[in-house]
Amino acid sequence: MTKRVAIIGAGPAGMACARILCREPGYSVDLYDDRNSVGGLCGSFKACNQIVDYGPHLLYLRDQRATDFYYSNVKDDELIEVPRFSRIFYRNKYFLYPVRVADALRNLGFLESVRCVLSFIKGKLFPLKGDSFEDWVANSFGYRLYSIFFKVYSEKVWGVKCTELDQSFAQQRMKKLDLVETIKEALRLKNTNTVEETSITHFRYPKLGSGVVYEHLADELRDHGVNIHLNTTVTKIHTRAKKATGIDFYRQGSPELCHEDYDIVVSSAPFTEMVKSIDEVDAATRAYVNKLRYRNTVLAFVEVANDHVGPDQWLYVVSNDVQFGRMTNFGNWSTYMKLGAPTNILCLEYWMSDEDALWSLPEDEFIALVKKDVQTAQFAQAGQIKSVELKRIHRSYPVYAKGYLDNLQPVYQAMDAFSDLYFIGRNGAFKYNNQDHSIIMGLLCAEKILGRYQGSLWDINTDNTYQYVSKTK
Ligand SMILES: Cc1cc2nc3c(=O)[nH]c(=O)nc-3n(C[C@H](O)[C@H](O)[C@H](O)COP(=O)(O)OP(=O)(O)OC[C@H]3O[C@@H](n4cnc5c(N)ncnc54)[C@H](O)[C@@H]3O)c2cc1C
Repeated sequence: MTKRVAIIGAGPAGMACARILCREPGYSVDLYDDRNSVGGLCGSFKACNQIVDYGPHLLYLRDQRATDFYYSNVKDDELIEVPRFSRIFYRNKYFLYPVRVADALRNLGFLESVRCVLSFIKGKLFPLKGDSFEDWVANSFGYRLYSIFFKVYSEKVWGVKCTELDQSFAQQRMKKLDLVETIKEALRLKNTNTVEETSITHFRYPKLGSGVVYEHLADELRDHGVNIHLNTTVTKIHTRAKKATGIDFYRQGSPELCHEDYDIVVSSAPFTEMVKSIDEVDAATRAYVNKLRYRNTVLAFVEVANDHVGPDQWLYVVSNDVQFGRMTNFGNWSTYMKLGAPTNILCLEYWMSDEDALWSLPEDEFIALVKKDVQTAQFAQAGQIKSVELKRIHRSYPVYAKGYLDNLQPVYQAMDAFSDLYFIGRNGAFKYNNQDHSIIMGLLCAEKILGRYQGSLWDINTDNTYQYVSKTK
């Protein structure tokens, strides 16, 4: 008998899962997404009449299966090779990103460099004893370098002091500074990156934006019989005797609550909401779920007429004079994304929580703030700003607040008691995933459904091993 599978979310995780299952005899797949296009946060869309992504979207080449999956969805002539360039803007100076210690020390000047080196040595001799993000990064790089390059940016992203962030976030994303390697780099015997995750030097990018990968995949899925329901919001997962049995959903524009029965449900929609929607979830689990938090992002797309914003694909701006933290310049990814326009689109990222005034700031006030920030950061003068469009992303980052695992693990355990119910993806599994992690989660979820993978999906993206090399097909 054919098993009916509902997959909630047509982002990388949901689509990767659908791709495996729809090729298997005996499975029929329905994919639901509340947006009007596929790809989730890795999709592309038009803002200010040019193609844009949801901020920078570089594929990290950590896992061959994710890399193969990604590039199998685009043809060679749809890709361009981009020499990667990104920096940090701090006190009117540009520092290479990933941080290169020799470059940083040269730019900081003699006195500040001596302070950084002494602070690094102090951190090694008398490490901070706690287990926060601040403790881990300060012990790895020295408090001084940490406070210059990591503190302001991280506190803007997460909205809490770095002492309140869990160290697991840093462990997953950064490599500790090795003194011997660093000296070799300072003597120019070797290139050393402090943040290994982004040590890629060239990357192949779809010339019409990240979303092309997922648009092509959607065509393939439809050819294999997958029904893709866009503009459809799933509100509830039904279970009976702790077994998934179906979902409720609304089609946008219609007040009618719809229901479909399914044999298997896979969710990449926000974990907290989906868990709470299940009637059989007990009060203790609900109490843990209620302690988990997400951050939101507002992306401000700014069309500027000038052409001297710099060569960076993205630029971290470490300054409390502006409220955004990172700027992406899409013209430096692919000029094809401009669709022939003579202007550039810059994307500024603002982060906030539901209760922050910034989240509910009216559109016109937000645009005024963006215009002010663009000028303060000297990206463009007032007369060069042609238009601004905002994109609000509710729940863009699961917050790894200190102790969050004490709340998350019991929920994972409670969910393990349910059969034919799977949680995957960045919001879906409450994991600070990049797209490669989400692709792997989707692929392995399908393998698990098929009985070919016995591991735990919760364990994906908990290690800190990276293999970044510029890769050609
Ligand atoms: C600003 C920014 C920059 C990033 N840069 C990079 C980068 O450079 N490289 C990288 O690899 N990753 C990057 N990421 C992360 C990457 O976007 C995510 O890891 C990836 O999109 C996660 O895929 P997913 O399928 O898990 O979730 P998503 O992409 O979030 O997809 C989930 C989908 O489910 C839909 N959905 C949610 N709730 C419901 C519901 N109730 N009913 C129906 N549908 C629902 C959502 O609309 C969405 O389409 C970045 C993220 C952000 C925010």
